[in-house]
Amino acid sequence: MSANKAPAQDNGSQVDRGMTQTTARSTRQSWRGQPFSLNALLPLITSSVVELYSERIEPLFFKNKLRQRLHAYGLSDRTLAPVLTIDCVQQCQCGTPICRKMITSYEETFSDFYSAARPHKRSQAKLTTLHAIDLNQYKSYDDYKKEIAKKSGNFVRDAKKAFREGYRVHLIEPSNHSPDIVSIHRSLKIRSFGLMPDAFFINIDHLGGLPKSFAEIQQPSCPQHWEYLFGVFADRPGYQQGAIQTDQHMLGYARLHRIGNTLFYRDFIGHGDYVAHGIMKLLHMEIMQWVLDPANVFTQDTSQMVYGAMERGSEGLFTWKRRSLFAPYLINLIVQSLPADFDAQDYLRLNPDIDNRKMPPEVHYKLHGQSEKRHYKISVPDDFDAANYLRLNPDVKCSPEDAALHYTKHGSAENRRY
Ligand SMILES: [Zn+2]
Repeated sequence: MSANKAPAQDNGSQVDRGMTQTTARSTRQSWRGQPFSLNALLPLITSSVVELYSERIEPLFFKNKLRQRLHAYGLSDRTLAPVLTIDCVQQCQCGTPICRKMITSYEETFSDFYSAARPHKRSQAKLTTLHAIDLNQYKSYDDYKKEIAKKSGNFVRDAKKAFREGYRVHLIEPSNHSPDIVSIHRSLKIRSFGLMPDAFFINIDHLGGLPKSFAEIQQPSCPQHWEYLFGVFADRPGYQQGAIQTDQHMLGYARLHRIGNTLFYRDFIGHGDYVAHGIMKLLHMEIMQWVLDPANVFTQDTSQMVYGAMERGSEGLFTWKRRSLFAPYLINLIVQSLPADFDAQDYLRLNPDIDNRKMPPEVHYKLHGQSEKRHYKISVPDDFDAANYLRLNPDVKCSPEDAALHYTKHGSAENRRY
């Protein structure tokens, strides 16, 4: 759907650092193997700095931030926060590659959050707290708007003001607005969630070049797993993006994912010169109206809307999120189960093409192995005799230790005698 990155290719890390971290990783990968040049080196350096910051430096402040920020919600400890159940699969039956990728990568993402069930003894300090809106608390958009106005009148007022000034929000196909996306990313070098590597090197080629013809918004194939982008615009008659005339200047956008019962702000980014006009508040309010519309089939049966981790980002971002009613939650993560008899060692032996340094065998199975119908357990009949098997099948050239492996992989399907 998106011109630069389809959801299926994302790592799906949370949005506070998601922009920075995912970009850091994908940048590294995309430059690997290309001829050395200064242009290639610059993003590598900036993304390494960002990765260092979000992985090593920022967590040093989590403990203090956690205490202070929980206090803002009247909580003395995060174990007292309410629980949200996250089910990345939900009713999805279609199992398209996009569904599988989103499910697997988001299950990884959500396992970085402090959970209600698991003890998390080892690296407690690194686990962050889910910052989310419990959608079940609001029967309608009006309910949400009333609640937000009660707690922080400014937020709704600012959004209304932006609307009065002529700013408008609608769904977008990002390839129609690639030049605007580049200038939004370049408009600020440092944002409330840290340094922006994109700001230094993003260019139009990364987004597939200038628009040549108008592209339609693509409808997702699965109602439970999708990506939609929303833009906030100012009218500018005659405004061009490449070869197409949009008549509107895009000043900010949000990339919203649905993974099962959960909505997730993957990107939420505005142009530095316009954010003071309330455009991002308007963008969020309009998205919430879309989300809470009972007639919207794409958001039916969603339970929460997540915007990264409470500990991440500046005080400004935290205050913004608190005013729009994001709150700390413990998560109860329902993970897709592996087959009961799944054996990671066997899986690697049966599939020597898998490099377990790149991906744990469990993740590989969920992501690829299951749909490719790969074997995951060495199993032979009770009366299987390795020596006999090799004698009866002289074309099988393997050691007696590997006879069971060979039988599981080939012999059984080939009705070989044993
Ligand atoms: Zn699906």
